[in-house]
Amino acid sequence: MTSISGKTDIDWGAFAAALAPVEVISETVLVKKRSRDFFWYSPILNARLKRCFADLIARPKDVGELKQCLSAAYDAGVPVVLRGGGTGNYGQAVPMDGGLVLEMTAMNKVLEIGEDFVRVQAGALMKDINAALAESGREMCMFPSTQEIATIGGFVAGGSSGIGSIANGMLRDPGNLRALKAMSVTDTPEERRFEGAHVMQIHHAWGLNGVITEVTIRTVPLQDWIGCMATFDTYEGAYAAGYALAQRGDIGPKLISTVDARITTYFPRLDGKIRANKHLLVSMIPAAQASTFAALMEAEGGYVDLMMTDTERGDAGIPHVYDFSYNHTTLQVLKADRSATYQQVGCPSPPDPQAIADLREHLTDDVWNHHEFSRVDGEIVTFDLPIIWYRDADQLAAINAIYEDNGFPVYDAHTWQVEGGGLKNADYRHLAWKKRMDPKGLLNSAKSMAWDSVKDLSPEEIEAMSTP
Ligand SMILES: Cc1cc2nc3c(=O)[nH]c(=O)nc-3n(C[C@H](O)[C@H](O)[C@H](O)COP(=O)(O)OP(=O)(O)OC[C@H]3O[C@@H](n4cnc5c(N)ncnc54)[C@H](O)[C@@H]3O)c2cc1C
Repeated sequence: MTSISGKTDIDWGAFAAALAPVEVISETVLVKKRSRDFFWYSPILNARLKRCFADLIARPKDVGELKQCLSAAYDAGVPVVLRGGGTGNYGQAVPMDGGLVLEMTAMNKVLEIGEDFVRVQAGALMKDINAALAESGREMCMFPSTQEIATIGGFVAGGSSGIGSIANGMLRDPGNLRALKAMSVTDTPEERRFEGAHVMQIHHAWGLNGVITEVTIRTVPLQDWIGCMATFDTYEGAYAAGYALAQRGDIGPKLISTVDARITTYFPRLDGKIRANKHLLVSMIPAAQASTFAALMEAEGGYVDLMMTDTERGDAGIPHVYDFSYNHTTLQVLKADRSATYQQVGCPSPPDPQAIADLREHLTDDVWNHHEFSRVDGEIVTFDLPIIWYRDADQLAAINAIYEDNGFPVYDAHTWQVEGGGLKNADYRHLAWKKRMDPKGLLNSAKSMAWDSVKDLSPEEIEAMSTP
């Protein structure tokens, strides 16, 4: 069997046979499909990654099979990329060096439900974890808007926040991610347990320093959530109402997003359900707070268009409200027009509607705002995931410069290397653990700018490069 990636020199037929009884996928069409994620949101990443393919997919169903795959990869010097649901936005799960993609979705057991935590295998889908938790009146402290198809391992390795973050903070905030187990890519792969602050050695490392096998994450009481939408005459009005709502502990929202009116014209499934050409606030609140929420929105100059339980929403044929939040907002636009893209931008804190209005003067009509409200270390913050009408890389660089020059840091969504996005700098703790867990540098190494410059150092030498 020849190499699909064109980048490896190995007898893939023999390699696949040696993995038996592990399920493998070798049909070219399917291998190519499972080599992709949502990198196509970015025209820059699309150009760079669309021809990067694996050579073989394996789908281990338990820790023993996973060990077998990793040991075989280590012996043969085969590059390995982990894959959960493949919903990452930056090509995180794209095998740039060819080789083996390990799809984790068969390792999907809920192992333990504790009083305020759940311990699960890394390939479990988050919607399944939440369904299991619902039986005991709990839910994950946060989950991404892709919970229907994304795995907890992918969220921990590649994600950062989601529905629940306005109440419970970022995934990295202390107490949310309680413990992890990760497996090494060595002759005899071993699982190591990371607890408390040590989870940061693995969290958001894009699967380049160990294979996450198990996750323990905080749970919170499940409430009788309703999805709400309110509309406003100005974007600043919606943003101010979002901030006012975020401060209302008595209402206790788990989602607050604001969306420019022009973006809402790409939401055909909301036609007739929300006022046309108005700026939108999307939220999830406990049903018992419906009248308090409505009073607040009206006091802020808004109009409450929609408040629905899940059952009412299903009956009305309306998608979940979080289909209009986080990167689902971008997806709604991309469904209609692939010339759109987006960016990830931090905002001045505390949230200031005037700062958003002032910035718009500089951004021109190529940029349409969409903010998510969250908490970091207990403080309310917002970040902008704007729609950008893309012409070329120079235009995008100019837009980034406008944001940065006005005090809005850009966490570039158009980079395939972990240091280029939210991290901004190399995380030498991640790389020290990569040296320990993956001494041959087989795990997703193309996704680190800094790895090549440290790969010949000892883990201790690499760790010493971390800024205190
Ligand atoms: C429409 C849309 C909406 C989104 N909304 C959100 C959101 O609300 N919040 C958010 O944070 N993100 C969001 N994302 C990004 C993404 O969906 C999430 O981060 C998701 O949790 C990734 O899970 P996954 O299983 O699809 O991971 P994948 O895309 O398969 O993998 C992500 C990264 O994790 C690595 N990985 C996967 N499994 C393992 C493992 N077991 N061990 C080690 N590494 C592993 C992969 O190699 C890759 O580097 C969104 C993306 C889209 C397209």
